[in-house]
Amino acid sequence: MTNQKSTKIVATIGPATETEDTIRELILAGMNVARFNTKHGVPTWHHERIARVKKVAKELNVPIGILVDLQGPEIRISLPNETPIPVETHEVLLFASDPDHEEKTVIIPQEVIDAEEVGNVLLVDDGLGEFIIVAKEEHALITEVQNTCTIGHRKSLNTPGVVIAMPSLVAQDYEHLDAATNETVDFVGLSFVRNAQDIRILRDELEKRHLDLDVVAKIENQAALDNIDEIIQASDVVMVARGDLGVEVPYEQLTHWQKTIIQKCREHAKPVITATQMLKTMVDFPYPSRAEVSDVANAVYDGTDAVMLSEETTIGKYPVKAVATQTKICSYNEQFASPNEISTHDFDASRSVTYAAGMLLDKEHPDHNLQVDAVICLSQSGATAKQLSRFRKFAHINVFTDSIHTYHKLSIVYGVSAYVVELESDILSNSTELINKALELGVVESGQIVLILHGDVWKEAGATDSMKIITVP
Ligand code: PEP
Repeated sequence: MTNQKSTKIVATIGPATETEDTIRELILAGMNVARFNTKHGVPTWHHERIARVKKVAKELNVPIGILVDLQGPEIRISLPNETPIPVETHEVLLFASDPDHEEKTVIIPQEVIDAEEVGNVLLVDDGLGEFIIVAKEEHALITEVQNTCTIGHRKSLNTPGVVIAMPSLVAQDYEHLDAATNETVDFVGLSFVRNAQDIRILRDELEKRHLDLDVVAKIENQAALDNIDEIIQASDVVMVARGDLGVEVPYEQLTHWQKTIIQKCREHAKPVITATQMLKTMVDFPYPSRAEVSDVANAVYDGTDAVMLSEETTIGKYPVKAVATQTKICSYNEQFASPNEISTHDFDASRSVTYAAGMLLDKEHPDHNLQVDAVICLSQSGATAKQLSRFRKFAHINVFTDSIHTYHKLSIVYGVSAYVVELESDILSNSTELINKALELGVVESGQIVLILHGDVWKEAGATDSMKIITVP
């Protein structure tokens, strides 16, 4: 069973999707990566469900990536006794760092109080509640409520335009890292990344635990936008986390930043995920709004590698239908999408080979006349596959790797179908064994023209230096 779409789907697992049966349906509907949002739930909750995803994926023989998404410097409020607080417009509400306050107080980190000034705005729960700071004390901010709402425990707090000196990782992030293994997790997401240093701190923690996980930098505030180039270079995957980004910066800027980040990621061959509210209507209804259909399709036209679902699949009433809806929209629009040309940097042997392959596969090039039926790319680390995929010139790139971890990590890359392959000969100058393997896997047929990208020696990372065009005997 394979999903014939090229755009990958990241679906967040939650109470609506935690059973083996539903996980199977999500995979069959087109989910490629299962995301676990650690801002909710303890490590054991997540790891039991990760094991379920792994079990079902193995039964179905498909690579499903596992993304563990950490809280990082994201700020969450807490409430005395965890009791929701209803507030009305113009009411005065206290935000304090000291938990010994009367009932109607929102508890926030002292770092927020230190950084804020009178006149600034606080936003709770993705902007559902807006509060203007009217006075400041050593351990409290006194605010005026701007709109009637009910504040819930553990909801997000956004501080538009104000950089808060929070640590890169919080205590519970370390617990989730301690619970991760290379066998169970492929990607680790870092919320509210501010600069490359946040990524380096996470990489150090991964190294201490001998974890070889790809780091997903979630772009969700102005600081990340200010340092976007260094963040893209320091990370393995990038997420345009529009939920928070849309309240941290003026929302009219969101589309501009989505397009800019996707373009930059393709230039650096870093896979990119477009996230949040893509099919929000489907939390409650079985059909998307017309604007949501357009949003998913436009992410494909922008050149995103993956689209994401959050509440739609964690608490929504139609989680499988939401994945199937993204599959339908992506598959249809991919055939018309030809994202902007990209400028490439730092040519080395493998970048030159993938660049040349991209030109050969470009059906829109005026001199294009070679009919390639299939592409096979030998990739130990996955880097060659990402470098070829970013040109978006061919719908399906078959990647042969001997690494099970690479097989799973390529689940996020546009147009890539990965296979774990064992070749008897280490030397790749003769393609007979490779072609036989491709025939056996059903990725090529006799008489087809195949483009193969490889190095001289099987299992050598970063060594791609050759391109071959072969007619399958
Ligand atoms: C987002 O803000 O778009 C996002 C993905 O963040 P969270 O992890 O809070 O869902």
